[in-house]
Amino acid sequence: MASTPIPTATDTSKQLFDRASSVIPGGVNSPVRAFKSVGGTPRFMVSASGPWLTDADGTRYVDLVCSWGPMILGHAHPAVVDAVRAAAGSGLSFGAPTPAEVELAEEIISRVPPVEQVRLVNSGTEATMSAIRLARGITGRKVIVKFAGCYHGHVDALLAQAGSGVATLGLPTSPGVTGAQAADTVVLPYNDLDAVRAVFAERGSEIACVITEAAAGNMGAIAPVPGFNAGLRDVCHAHGALLVVDEVMTGFRVSASGWFGRDGVAGDLYTFGKVMSGGLPAAAFGGSAAHMGHLAPAGPVYQAGTLSGNPVAVAAGLATLRAADEAVYAALDANAARLGDLIHRALEAESVPHRVQFAGNLLSVFFTGDEVVDYAGAQAAQTWRFPAFFHAMLERGVYLPPSAYEAWFVSAALTDETWEVIADALPAAASAAATATAPAEAAQ
Ligand code: PLP
Repeated sequence: MASTPIPTATDTSKQLFDRASSVIPGGVNSPVRAFKSVGGTPRFMVSASGPWLTDADGTRYVDLVCSWGPMILGHAHPAVVDAVRAAAGSGLSFGAPTPAEVELAEEIISRVPPVEQVRLVNSGTEATMSAIRLARGITGRKVIVKFAGCYHGHVDALLAQAGSGVATLGLPTSPGVTGAQAADTVVLPYNDLDAVRAVFAERGSEIACVITEAAAGNMGAIAPVPGFNAGLRDVCHAHGALLVVDEVMTGFRVSASGWFGRDGVAGDLYTFGKVMSGGLPAAAFGGSAAHMGHLAPAGPVYQAGTLSGNPVAVAAGLATLRAADEAVYAALDANAARLGDLIHRALEAESVPHRVQFAGNLLSVFFTGDEVVDYAGAQAAQTWRFPAFFHAMLERGVYLPPSAYEAWFVSAALTDETWEVIADALPAAASAAATATAPAEAAQ
């Protein structure tokens, strides 16, 4: 039976949002945190523990966003918090090499064999930006190929038809990106190898690299169709281009070795972030020693960072990866499957057209009866059902990404109590999705 919403106060979040809106554009420090596409006031969070988030009004939510990916162990995991405390007590930043950054690099390399060297940076955006520069520096070519609906951070050249917040806000690209920056980017439909082959047949000698999410998670969860990633690698190599595999979202989440652990397709350059940061600002890009040797100071391609390899962030990432054992990955997979099943059963009971799709243990719900394999398919879904679904879940204590285009992230910390909250909320959310009105009908 559908549960009734727990009446929750939102006054403090509303007041904070008013204050934030006058000093921070849109009231948020990253567009995906806004409730623009679902309506209402973003909840301002004050603490988190295990699978729970607590907002400024004291309301607790089961967290299915997990800081957009990093928190696979749940929040404030004791091993991670202890490591951060110890590192902070020993100094916050040295601007010099540290032993721990060597350990983090070794940990990453031991998990992803095609990666022999990594350079630590501060965000996934920096990682992809640097990987693209490196690919261009190595090949001496300028054109890059990306896929519609894939998001690789807010890098100028990679914003065209991007996923995540760019998709949520319905932006084709961003003002401020010059024609010259965009002109060297070719955007193709995801999962369409023929389109990739056609572009290479025409412009192969100009193409520095193809960048792809190892499995797409920024237009909803869309796994590569069988052979897609391997096909990309083959086409790239046939034309002397590099394959850049963006594992910022999938890395160290969908298996101990990320998506590579699932499909075994070796890319040339990799980008990582989120889980390997333990929730602090850290990310990385890597590849073979031969490719990475082009980076300064070993080689001529320049890349740098005052806070890169920050000791506190490195401690959080290292502690997270070390705690992420087989049991954690088994729990992530089991939790994603259990959640997907609950969502499917609730929506089916209300006859709402839907597909619960998985990319490893990333999952999302598309309100359509058809399998979604690309951005056009994601856009064709009945996304107007999502705001009602989202708010019904939120009012019943479940925090989802506030966008129909974002993947949901489980942690390994979900408990019986959290499953009860989720299972109680879903029937009402499914019913809200069933009775939601399409925009055209609403206008009549
Ligand atoms: N690449 C992918 C696949 C991502 O999902 C993201 C962020 O969501 C990024 C890159 C950018 O990472 P960041 O937000 O840390 O800059």
